[in-house]
Amino acid sequence: MAQKDSNGTLPLNETIEIPVRSGRAFLLQKGQRLTVIDPRGGQVSDLLAFNLHDQREVISSGRSLDYASRIYLTTNDPLYSNRSNIMLRIVEDTVGRHDFLLTPCSKDTFRIIYGDKEPHQGCFGNLAEAVQPYGIEPDDIPVAFNCFMNTVVDGKTGELQVLPPISKAGDHITFEADMDLIVGLTACSALQSNGGSFKPIHFRVDANRP
Ligand SMILES: [Zn+2]
Repeated sequence: MAQKDSNGTLPLNETIEIPVRSGRAFLLQKGQRLTVIDPRGGQVSDLLAFNLHDQREVISSGRSLDYASRIYLTTNDPLYSNRSNIMLRIVEDTVGRHDFLLTPCSKDTFRIIYGDKEPHQGCFGNLAEAVQPYGIEPDDIPVAFNCFMNTVVDGKTGELQVLPPISKAGDHITFEADMDLIVGLTACSALQSNGGSFKPIHFRVDANRP
């Protein structure tokens, strides 16, 4: 599998694996496309984005859901920053169900919801480690766009349920960058989000389109 070079730029058009319960960060230039693939089906991948040139500009669930007036985003929907600039656009989506409500799973998620005594660091810890070399602190990590995560909401009570993803092996979602970005990406570590088992995630960065 390909590795990032020293400045975080990935080889183009190569499929890269994120191992089970881990994460990584890389650069995505304006105009490049990022495809996140669920190779086995039923696996979530948390995605973070920061403006490469000013890392205080971050992906914003609140802005994106507000402007879409929907909680389920799919093809043609933009993902906005906290400054209301478009960071990414969803250009292809074979699943149509992703979560943008819940924070990355973390030690505290596993302690509070699962009662784990020695909790895994989760997507939050994996993302914090991956983006730390870019000068991004754990407190700067926002709600991620959770590819393939199947959170359903009772329309009357607002009750949330995290159900197994509906993604099948080979399903994917493709984003096009609207600005130069630092991207964090995981293979999610929470049993409930992933239908009870942990699988890897694949992704690919494609060159600018003519
Ligand atoms: Zn997770």
